[in-house]
Amino acid sequence: MSHLDKRVDNFNAGPAVLPEPALLAAQEEMLNYRNSGMSVLEISHRSALYQQIQEEAEDRLRRLLDISEEFEVLFLQGGASLQFAMVPMNFIRPGQVGAYMLSGLWSEKAIQEAATIRDTRVAATSKDDGYRNILQAWQAEPTDAYLHLTSNNTIYGTQWGEFPVNQEVPLVADMSSDILSRVFAVDDFHLIYAGAQKNLGPAGVTLVLVRRDWLGGAVVDGVPKMLQYGAHVKAVSKYNTPPVFAVYLLGKVLQWLEGEGGVAEVERRNRKKSALLYRVIDESNGFYRGYAGKTARSRMNVTFNLATPQMEETFLQSAKEAGFVGLSGHRSVGGCRASIYNAQPLAACKRLADFMVDFQHRGEYREG
Ligand code: PMP
Repeated sequence: MSHLDKRVDNFNAGPAVLPEPALLAAQEEMLNYRNSGMSVLEISHRSALYQQIQEEAEDRLRRLLDISEEFEVLFLQGGASLQFAMVPMNFIRPGQVGAYMLSGLWSEKAIQEAATIRDTRVAATSKDDGYRNILQAWQAEPTDAYLHLTSNNTIYGTQWGEFPVNQEVPLVADMSSDILSRVFAVDDFHLIYAGAQKNLGPAGVTLVLVRRDWLGGAVVDGVPKMLQYGAHVKAVSKYNTPPVFAVYLLGKVLQWLEGEGGVAEVERRNRKKSALLYRVIDESNGFYRGYAGKTARSRMNVTFNLATPQMEETFLQSAKEAGFVGLSGHRSVGGCRASIYNAQPLAACKRLADFMVDFQHRGEYREG
């Protein structure tokens, strides 16, 4: 049996399933990268070999997301969580306020982090309905430095449809859990960030896209160099040692994505994959209950509950025995969650959908 035969249906929320061709390519090159006699883990970040890896990754991203020359592309570290701090540090000037759309736990964390150093305000929140929906309406204020939103709420399983583009206020987005999963206009934003470990590659690298003209007015006083976007731009993401292997693998994932037909094609697949699972939920007569409001449903994280926590436990145990990994909801909310990022094959979603139907019709889990 090869290792490929032993791979499971992995529904983890991140780190998550990666495209097999990307992993195999890395395996193939592991001991001797491009005849250097070294692994990518062993090469210098100042070498021409690494320079090419990073440049290729950037070029692929620019093609896949149609990123214009007005944007810098940065590969940083510290995860999306460090961006929660870097964004306000660099872009809220004295007298200004960071406005936040609260649509889940990660946007709460983003505003909490910003509030430790700068003034913030909540522009809108759907907390009252348990973050089942996304409130889109908001009013700009003259002191707003930017409006921050989380494009996909990994924990609650909700996703923005139309973004609240507003000509007056720069838009900043945490796209950690849905970047590259659907077509959108990068130009509508001033800054986009994403931890890599869902759709982009392994944990350890964080992608930042930022408008060059906005950087010109960034705060530098009192901001440590390592936390200034400008310092990373100047050093072409090599201000300090970059996460060489993570950037390399990210490049392999992007290469796979291009080969599959790009973002429009994976969006089509993601629609199909998520529709399969939501259909099982909707046709289950309430046996499965979708967590997200129907119009806010995520195509990346499908969240659902069963009638009781005991039934959820039985379902999760039974799914585990059937070879499905990572279906427990986030520890903060419980329930069930199937994360179906770009690399999740349609066949795995079909197997899960079939399993869910089968589990329901076994009937032995009804109460009473
Ligand atoms: N934002 C979102 C939307 C996330 O899903 C996550 C992680 N699951 C984070 C931020 C935090 O990311 P990191 O662990 O890379 O700091």
